Amino acid sequence: AAHAKTVMDIETKLAGASMTRVESRDPYATYNKMALAALSKTAPSLNWNQYLTKAGIPQNLDSVIVSQPKFIKQVNDILAKPDVEAVKAYLRWHLVHSMAPYLSSNIVNENFAFSGTVLNGVKALEQRWKRVLDNTNNNIGEALGQEYVKVAFTPEAKDKALEMVNNLKAALKEKINTLDWMSAGTKEQAQHKLSTMVTKIGYPDKWRDYKGLNIDRNSYAKNVMNASEFEFKRMVNKLGKPIDRSEWLMTPPTVNAYYNPAMNEIVFPAGILQPPFFNADADDAVNYGGMGAVIGHELTHGFDDQGRQFDADGNLKDWWTKEDAEKFKKKTEVVVKQFNGYQPLPGEYVNGSLTLGENIADLGGLTIAYEAWKKSQEGKKEVGKIDGFTPEQRFFLGWAQVWRVNERPESTKQRLITDPHSPAMFRVNGPLSNMPEFYKAYNIQPGSKMMVADSLRASIW
Ligand SMILES: [Zn+2]
Repeated sequence: AAHAKTVMDIETKLAGASMTRVESRDPYATYNKMALAALSKTAPSLNWNQYLTKAGIPQNLDSVIVSQPKFIKQVNDILAKPDVEAVKAYLRWHLVHSMAPYLSSNIVNENFAFSGTVLNGVKALEQRWKRVLDNTNNNIGEALGQEYVKVAFTPEAKDKALEMVNNLKAALKEKINTLDWMSAGTKEQAQHKLSTMVTKIGYPDKWRDYKGLNIDRNSYAKNVMNASEFEFKRMVNKLGKPIDRSEWLMTPPTVNAYYNPAMNEIVFPAGILQPPFFNADADDAVNYGGMGAVIGHELTHGFDDQGRQFDADGNLKDWWTKEDAEKFKKKTEVVVKQFNGYQPLPGEYVNGSLTLGENIADLGGLTIAYEAWKKSQEGKKEVGKIDGFTPEQRFFLGWAQVWRVNERPESTKQRLITDPHSPAMFRVNGPLSNMPEFYKAYNIQPGSKMMVADSLRASIW
């Protein structure tokens, strides 16, 4: 118990010196380039040269990027007059905590009782094969991924997804042209950024080589340690070399997607190109409402409150006129206010500033997906009703189906503080209540729960 208190005290100090989640969304605030000598001056209690040597990092670094200088100063203060026993207890805790899921059952269960049940309200530990599969994906995902795509991703699915991406890009291009609040100069920059945005679909062209990584049947925990060490060395090896633009930051089986502002690229692993997001045999309305809106979401990230601060080459550089930037900010304030009003649990509200980027991306993504879908139907035979739903209704159902989740209140509560995404229900009801197309599709009338007054609706992209 004494050790637990020691660890808690150190963690509390470190947390106090950390940026809030909202502060850390500012890419300028977290980009602090420092010469190694300057870092040593900021935090002299740490012997940086020795640290780098022990970690196998070459000494000839000209600079480092310190994302949170105040945090480093706090680490320095803790180590300035170190209580060696306290620091040892702290390090021991982190070693045990990080390895706990891979050790024997009594430790796994104890760890789950706290991390799973207390913090997230989860009642039962996931089955072992699922935990091991997840862990394999996290550690050697491009080896697992090669097997995964053989059974779960066809060239036809890739072609169809690429066609959707192209249609979405065309819709956003059109959209930018017709925006009434953006000047011609900024539009031109936006178009340049959009036209140079790189798309990656399914899996990498070049698979990662795991040669030298030892995985055997003796110790599960040792395998995990070997994989972490291997990955650390892989990253250190990149120092001083040209950027590898073919690299993926997610593995192929991952059910997720990303926009990487530093590379100006959108990436869709094979894992998300599956039902309910995407089904090559399903009707277009559902696919565009699901995967189409996800593609639109990632595209829009390039132009959300964070992404818009990066240029076409991925550099942190302002390409907006002052006036356009102000108009954009005004529009985003409507979104912040709207989401601040959502209450997933009694007395617990969404943080509209923390979730702004994601909410902009959802609204923009759905808007351009709708337009891309309509355009893709031109000249095609109208499908008509399926299961009693019109194509327009099915488009919105496609989005809603993607966000069906089961979540305990403890988890919702935690994510309201930590997750930049809004709770699933509001990722659906939020953007839809801003879209005239939705009101029309479902004939929403005043008095309906989904009704938001015209003057309070948000519209950006
Ligand atoms: Zn996102």
